[in-house]
Amino acid sequence: MLDYIVVGFGLSGLSFVEQLENKGKSFKVYENFSQKSSRVAGGIFNPVILKRFTLAWKASEQSKIASSFYAHIESKLQKSLVSELPILRRFNDVEEQNNWFEACDKPVLGEFLSPKLIRNTNAALDIPFHYGKVKHTGKIEINNMLSAYADYLKGKKAFAEEPFEYDRVIIQKGFVQYKDVKSRNIVFAEGFGVKDNPFFNYLPLQGNKGEYVIIKSENLKLKEIVKSSIFIIPLGDDMYKVGATYNNQDKSPQTTIDSREEIEKKLKRFLNAPYQIVDQVAGIRPTVRDRKPLIGTHDSYPNIHILNGMGSRGILLAPTMAQNLYNCIEEETPLDQEIDIKRFKKLR
Ligand SMILES: Cc1cc2nc3c(=O)[nH]c(=O)nc-3n(C[C@H](O)[C@H](O)[C@H](O)COP(=O)(O)OP(=O)(O)OC[C@H]3O[C@@H](n4cnc5c(N)ncnc54)[C@H](O)[C@@H]3O)c2cc1C
Repeated sequence: MLDYIVVGFGLSGLSFVEQLENKGKSFKVYENFSQKSSRVAGGIFNPVILKRFTLAWKASEQSKIASSFYAHIESKLQKSLVSELPILRRFNDVEEQNNWFEACDKPVLGEFLSPKLIRNTNAALDIPFHYGKVKHTGKIEINNMLSAYADYLKGKKAFAEEPFEYDRVIIQKGFVQYKDVKSRNIVFAEGFGVKDNPFFNYLPLQGNKGEYVIIKSENLKLKEIVKSSIFIIPLGDDMYKVGATYNNQDKSPQTTIDSREEIEKKLKRFLNAPYQIVDQVAGIRPTVRDRKPLIGTHDSYPNIHILNGMGSRGILLAPTMAQNLYNCIEEETPLDQEIDIKRFKKLR
């Protein structure tokens, strides 16, 4: 008898598995590589909403939990996965500069926003109104982290590269039977793939497709993350991830010419250097109508749980949300009503 089956090994599945590892629980992960949201993500951790210069929901607390979470994974997997990189927010006009300075004076935001204007010294970029610098931000190598963690789990025979077949679940009293595996609990963490999950597909997970292009530009020589209407994220070796797009209509997994054109149009407004496009990636963000995560336990089946809705700022959110779900299941700590799937009970 296992303690847990975990379905899906994106950022949410990994975050829950890390809880289970820390608490010495037994588990098996199922992953079919049907969704790519975590694998294509920019990997930026940033508590500030850069459009309005406000703090994201509970981001200060989540930031602290996330820092120690990723540091612990780095040391466990013996891999360098976190780089501290400031984000430079390109101002569009003087009004935005003024809004930034106002935000700097607010108590919690002051911790993250530098009150100095940063002048651009990079000839490859056109930044007439200068930058504001966000502190305590950076980038996680999510793809490397997921692959290295999956290898570690394969070594423990706890990772199955196969689709989870929902119609093979038999719910028993106090446990769940799946094929020849018995488990006390199942946690579903399939991202947008939850649309095929008969236990939870009533939840209002909308999905928002995001695409990046990967460019090579030898003259750009950028070390920080730059945010204008799009991000430019340095990857090393003169490569940069540029984007992302937001599309809540198209739910296909493929990259599109329209998105590439949209990104290039925005990039050319402030990049004065030649570049080549070397790749393009796409994923569906698991986003929710009210922009809050979807966490909790099925109201008819106490052994069946969900960890989802991490469509935006998943890197900051997932470690805290996984901890909340674990504490709710194992210690009966009530979930915050804002994230509990009970808020959508009427939709069942
Ligand atoms: C273009 C883009 C850029 C982003 N940039 C950032 C960023 O910079 N910072 C940030 O914080 N967030 C970012 N995000 C958002 C965020 O990182 C992700 O949305 C988040 O990682 C979601 O993780 P998840 O594990 O919940 O879902 P997913 O990553 O979708 O993982 C779900 C997993 O479940 C598996 N699965 C599904 N169904 C089954 C099944 N039946 N059987 C077995 N396995 C199954 C899938 O294959 C997948 O691996 C970005 C997202 C996108 C798309």
